[in-house]
Amino acid sequence: MFEAESALARVFAEKCESLSASYCILFCGRETVVTSDWTFPTVQEVETFLPGITENLLYLGKLYDRPCFGGQCKLPETLPSGFQRVLTRRLLTEAEECLWHAISRTQKLVFWKKQHRYCGACRAELVPSSHDSALKCPECGAMYFPQISPAVIVAVRKGDQLLLAHNRNFERNVHSLIAGFMEAGETVEQTVQREILEETSLRVKNIRYLASQPWPFPNSLMLAFEAEYESGDATPDGVELTSLGWFTADNLPELPMKGSIARQIIDAIFPGHSGGNEAD
Ligand SMILES: [Zn+2]
Repeated sequence: MFEAESALARVFAEKCESLSASYCILFCGRETVVTSDWTFPTVQEVETFLPGITENLLYLGKLYDRPCFGGQCKLPETLPSGFQRVLTRRLLTEAEECLWHAISRTQKLVFWKKQHRYCGACRAELVPSSHDSALKCPECGAMYFPQISPAVIVAVRKGDQLLLAHNRNFERNVHSLIAGFMEAGETVEQTVQREILEETSLRVKNIRYLASQPWPFPNSLMLAFEAEYESGDATPDGVELTSLGWFTADNLPELPMKGSIARQIIDAIFPGHSGGNEAD
């Protein structure tokens, strides 16, 4: 299991006696370093091929009771035997829920820290806060917390049919649930109704919360809902969505990657369906 801890600056000295029994989630572009048996290397192991990396790692919390660190780096062309790089998206399709959580947290914090080096008020260089998962300005005291962007993802149902759409950013012909970011000042229910209306010209009713998932590309929190069709003709907006339609268990299109909340919901609605090659 993974337990996040709120301390970016949790000092290494406090943890260093256990670095040989630690985990290091290390990104390089779109890839993550894993061992040949698909676990994360220890910090000590990573130090052997990236000396000094420890200085740039963030403390994330405990993964399976071991201290877990994360960071980003430029990897050497060839990794030593026993280590390999895999596409982070591919890793997520195989990941248990706790690993998804740990990878998401690493991805979010690494991305955020890279984009928040200086204070927006006084331009001083930011330093990690000693108490929170935050960066602090040593000059004016401003605090900067990780940016998390809430978004809704909705299973719109009409009888035994489910609305699935192809977004222009999806690979191949993948179809998924309707999703969109919250606007400032909205309730999540308003976001659901607005996004569905804007993107599909449909009105929905009986909105019900299902589950959530931190989506790590790069910083969303997906809030999943189910809603019932009320009125309108399903029409793609032509901006984000290029096609959409009503699907049943026996005519499913290519579906989103395994492990994603969209895929989990589709699989729960149509248990045992045989359609929909996964896109990973
Ligand atoms: Zn400042």
